[in-house]
Amino acid sequence: MFLLRFKKPWFLSVTFLIALLSTNTYSNQGTPLANYFADTWTTEDGLPHNSINAITQTSDGYLWFATWEGVARYNGSEFRFFERSEQTGIIDSGTRTLVPDSENGLWIAGARGGITYRNHQQWKPQPPAQSMVNHVMKDTKDNLWLAVEGTGVFFRPTQKSDGAPNAHNEVWVLKNKSAYRLLEDSQGRIWAATDSGLYHLNGNSQQDVLAQYNLPNRQVYSVIETRNKELLVATNRGAYVIKGSQALLLHPSLAGATITTLLEDKQNNIWLGTVNMGVFRFAHQKIEKLSADSGLPNNRVLSIFQDLENSIWIGTNGGLMRLRNAPFSSWTKERGLVGDYVRSVFALSPDSLLVGSSEGLSVIEKGLAYSALNQKSAQVSTLSFARRRAGGVWVGTYLNGLMVWQDNQLTPYFNEKNGLPSNEVRAVLEDTKGNLWIGTTTGLVRRNAQGEQTLFTREQGLPGNYIMALSEDTKGQIWVGTGVGVAIITGNEINTLSINAMEGAEYAFGFWPEKDYVWIATDRGLIRYRHKDGHLGLVGRKAGLPIDKLFQVISDNHGSLWLTSNRGIWQVAYDSAQAVADGKQENIDFEHFSQSDGMASAQANGGSNPTAVVMSNGTLWFATAKGVSMINSLRLTEKIARPLPLVLESVFVDGELVDSTQNAAFKPGTSRVAIHYAGLGYVLSSRIQYRTHLVGFEEGWSFRDKGTTAEYTNLPPGHYQLKLSARYPYNDWTPSETLYEFTIQPFIWQTREMQISAFVVLLLLLTAGVKWRLRQLQANELRLKKLVDKQTFALQQQTEELRCLANEDGLTHLPNRRAFDRSLSSTFANAKSQGTSLALAILDIDHFKAINDHYSHLVGDQAIQLIAKELHAMTNDNVHVARWGGEEFTLLIEGIGAHQAISYCDHLREKIANLDYTDLGENFAMTVSIGLAFSDQVRSYEDLLRSADKALYKAKQEGRNRVELI
Ligand code: GH3
Ligand code: MG
Ligand code: MG
Repeated sequence: MFLLRFKKPWFLSVTFLIALLSTNTYSNQGTPLANYFADTWTTEDGLPHNSINAITQTSDGYLWFATWEGVARYNGSEFRFFERSEQTGIIDSGTRTLVPDSENGLWIAGARGGITYRNHQQWKPQPPAQSMVNHVMKDTKDNLWLAVEGTGVFFRPTQKSDGAPNAHNEVWVLKNKSAYRLLEDSQGRIWAATDSGLYHLNGNSQQDVLAQYNLPNRQVYSVIETRNKELLVATNRGAYVIKGSQALLLHPSLAGATITTLLEDKQNNIWLGTVNMGVFRFAHQKIEKLSADSGLPNNRVLSIFQDLENSIWIGTNGGLMRLRNAPFSSWTKERGLVGDYVRSVFALSPDSLLVGSSEGLSVIEKGLAYSALNQKSAQVSTLSFARRRAGGVWVGTYLNGLMVWQDNQLTPYFNEKNGLPSNEVRAVLEDTKGNLWIGTTTGLVRRNAQGEQTLFTREQGLPGNYIMALSEDTKGQIWVGTGVGVAIITGNEINTLSINAMEGAEYAFGFWPEKDYVWIATDRGLIRYRHKDGHLGLVGRKAGLPIDKLFQVISDNHGSLWLTSNRGIWQVAYDSAQAVADGKQENIDFEHFSQSDGMASAQANGGSNPTAVVMSNGTLWFATAKGVSMINSLRLTEKIARPLPLVLESVFVDGELVDSTQNAAFKPGTSRVAIHYAGLGYVLSSRIQYRTHLVGFEEGWSFRDKGTTAEYTNLPPGHYQLKLSARYPYNDWTPSETLYEFTIQPFIWQTREMQISAFVVLLLLLTAGVKWRLRQLQANELRLKKLVDKQTFALQQQTEELRCLANEDGLTHLPNRRAFDRSLSSTFANAKSQGTSLALAILDIDHFKAINDHYSHLVGDQAIQLIAKELHAMTNDNVHVARWGGEEFTLLIEGIGAHQAISYCDHLREKIANLDYTDLGENFAMTVSIGLAFSDQVRSYEDLLRSADKALYKAKQEGRNRVELI
């Protein structure tokens, strides 16, 4: 142990037993910081300045960087700057220190004594100090301590009234010194790191400085308390641990280094930033170094910080670096590999590996990678490996056929010149019988122990000539993987395996033989062959594997199968894969590994063999497009937990930024709301996926993929809640969080009350309208009905009238001539057939022309009507009267003899002659002449008429007013 010993607490006497180690010494101690994966940022990536004076993380998850050009806040994808302004209280862009508190607040201080506090998006500028503030500290009593450049240390006591520091009451504790760092330890002691040593400041004034750990001629730049309650001090000549009254050099190799910044990480490693030597990591009494030679942006280190994801951030003069711990370690050209495009891996011993790449062969041994060839041997593009019984390793190459690697040399063996169908050898196997199988792109060659060579191609029964995989199962059968299926060779017999039945699988990239099964990596997932019955089972997309093109399958013999693909490596539980292949389980559980887990590239390689290997020490090695990636399956318990805090970044309403901390009630007519959010995961920020759910607007989640804005247009008035959840690909969604709530106020006409009133009014109007219309319709119906009734009646009347008119004389209402003729014919026929008597009388008014002339036509009509009335009164069942025309009438008299008929007619003549006609005119007189005929005297009714007419003529001739017969 190399120690600095104090004889007295603040007096140092030292024995330096230090071996100053050169930079090279460290790299010989093993892989520097081997488990970390590095990323860097500079101004080109959006930093405001390349000097990162301070780094911190607020409890909401944001990372903050203090630079000479202001403060930058990082959300994993972009930096947001906070610069000098009255509002922020940053009075000079040069910021030196960032100190968060438990309430998500942040103290920011720096050049020109500027001090400000930010919390809940609000800035609380503080009165400045005299000169540049190097550090700020709130002690447990809420006093605000300040370490000031060239001036010393003072504090501002808390005000009882509001708990804020009293700017007018500055208590100076140390003066005329440059103070760099302050610390309150677990015992409540206040410590100050200054250019004149370390001070213990337990008092309230300068006089109360209790102790000065006056490390001789040491400038002290930082002081921290470790988890085991020891103080660790960074000086211009090494780092010291203070144990009681002793200050012990942390490690002698650091004694010459100017240490500027300190960090104890969660694994109790001590990180030390130096002024010109990069970063040292002290763990388990071992020092490792990270400097510009190994990727650090600059050797002047200003800040070191460990974030919530356990990544280590290092701020230098030349940019920012992040180291993240990951389950995978990767070896690339940067770490000594000959080539990055690795096509095959092969275990040489429990801790050494042969690596074949497009640029040649490397060995990784005990974590170190180097060329597998000595100076004399030239590198060739390598595809495949197989154990060689006679020693060394068979090496299948891209252009040089099959070679042998032995004693760090590559020797040509079989190629096109001595019998190989092609120099491209993608798979090699030396089986238990001593046969050497060489898989080329144009067929498979078998060389037996005697050197006899047999070529197998499609002609011999192989499914294809492009051979990618060769394996021997426990029964001594040779499995051949091609681009169009699988063949199993037993002796000289070739059988093909119909993997095509498994969702159309064709490519067989790799085999993993076991006692009872052979696992096959195919382009449709993992296929399991069962020896017992030849059954094929599939573990593929249907079982939930997100990808189906698998290159290699290996078992770690500790309960997992590992599958490689273009999109990372999948760990599936062995029992679960068996159950799925048996059809007893529907879904396969998997763990996915990619860049975020330390793989230099997630693209594992395939198409040659072997591309993955399990070593006896439990490590698994994978060939990828960027180097070799290794995971220790024995140490892997679970993936690194990745906290993914979700934050609301900003809210824009109709294009205007709004204060998202305020009660969000937006005015009526608001049409566009854009909400920007972020998941503050820094390990692989660009791959974080989001989903949002605007409660009050949509039913469920909207998948946003990598989008960090949720924008809504034309939202109706109402209250809304934006829920957010995020995930890394192939991981679970984080629990839903309500990120933001807002209300869009309604226009007066959009209010519920207004809408209800309007609705009621509308309803009433509608009801009234409907009633009115109904009534109108009813009235109309009634009117129409009446009209129809009326018209129907009129029609009926008209019809009746028409019917009467057809048979009736208009003036006298006696049957007209038409009716008479019809009646005559039927009555005549009837009389003839019955043999009854029928008399016809024609009656004509005498000298009627003279009546008309003398009394007028009108009176003539009345006279005709009078006679008609008389005739009508005579009508009965046996007597039918008609107006025959003009002033002539007819009488048909049935069932009456001639004698009776004559007297009947004469009686009628007499009656007419004696009627009282005084109404018609003075001295009015009228007589008639009647001609009579009988049916029994004639043959037809026409004759009857003619006879009657003749008789009438006779009556006229005989002097009128008389009855005559023929
Ligand atoms: P008579 O029969 O006695 O030989 O003499 P008359 O005057 O009746 O002669 P005639 O039969 O030739 O004339 C009939 C007249 O009756 C002619 C015509 O003007 C008149 N007359 C016929 N029909 C009507 C009628 O409906 N009203 C009126 N006012 N006169 C009619
Ligand atoms: Mg006449
Ligand atoms: Mg007449």
